[in-house]
Amino acid sequence: MDSTTYVKNIGIEGIQRPENICNDEKCPWHGNVRIRGFTFEGEVKRINHNIALVEFKRYYYVPKYERYEIRISRIKAHIPGCLNIKIGDNVLIGETRPLSKTIRFVVINKK
Ligand SMILES: [Zn+2]
Repeated sequence: MDSTTYVKNIGIEGIQRPENICNDEKCPWHGNVRIRGFTFEGEVKRINHNIALVEFKRYYYVPKYERYEIRISRIKAHIPGCLNIKIGDNVLIGETRPLSKTIRFVVINKK
């Protein structure tokens, strides 16, 4: 197989492959990080260099009132070089090994 067009199978169905190619080591498609554990879908709220702050809502059940309350989670995720992510995009992020002191997630692609 031609090494320039090779894209790894990251083990997640129904997600688009990136059109560009990068030599980012922390890229799930072209680098050496593997997705395992949690995946979340959320909106990009802030971008700082190649790190996105992804926010998503989840429902938390409160037994006392027998109702759900909305809780908001924010997770920092690494943006690989082959993806063009902007603020406001809906993205899928996946858990990886620790990429830096606080980063344990990577952006897989737009949703
Ligand atoms: Zn890449």
